[in-house]
Amino acid sequence: MGVNTEKYKEILKELNGKATLVAVSKTKPVEDLQALYDLGQRDFGENYVQELVDKQAVLPKDIRWHFIGHLQSNKVKFISPFVHLVHGVDSGNLLAEINKQAIKNNRVIDCLLQVYIATEETKFGFDEAELQNVQWCNYPNVRIKGLMGMASFSNDMELVKNEFKQLKKLYDQLPAQGIQPTILSMGMSGDFKMAIDEGSNMVRIGSLLFGERNYNK
Ligand SMILES: *Cc1c(COP(=O)(O)O)cnc(C)c1O
Repeated sequence: MGVNTEKYKEILKELNGKATLVAVSKTKPVEDLQALYDLGQRDFGENYVQELVDKQAVLPKDIRWHFIGHLQSNKVKFISPFVHLVHGVDSGNLLAEINKQAIKNNRVIDCLLQVYIATEETKFGFDEAELQNVQWCNYPNVRIKGLMGMASFSNDMELVKNEFKQLKKLYDQLPAQGIQPTILSMGMSGDFKMAIDEGSNMVRIGSLLFGERNYNK
């Protein structure tokens, strides 16, 4: 438990202002988030709606909360009053629901479309063809800021690199669809340096900062 302060500083130095660091704090106690907050961190990423809502209630109000998990439509309402950026939008239905809840809260919610780039079956997201058919303009209270993707969990760094390249290519094609993207969210603890080299400007880092996660506590 606890925050690795040295690692935090090292990562910020490595990013050198080229990418936003989202500190992924799922399963970690609020004390750990507060410790990182006290070092100046403001962007935090969570995967579970209830956990995010509980943490948001007790932590400083100027934290920018990123939802990076798989979001179910029926839970959008719980985070829509305050969420800063939803990274994992992977269906038109979800976009419609986010739009609806954004209207209720009288705000615009920023979103990233999640693209399926990995070889694994378990990861969510649009494929290339689906991405081109997203009817984003039907949802005035949703603002598509860019793309998010997760590379394969693999030691084959050539594979990972090619997946990042593929995501960057799709990102660069968004203007042809009328989207002017500014955020490419790719890279985690194990691959963020390569992600930056391949054009990422937002990395989601958990275990390097907070240590390994224990889901069985
Ligand atoms: C958990 C998670 C991360 C952080 O993973 P680490 O390997 O601990 O850095 C990043 N992105 C998503 C979508 C995650 O679910």
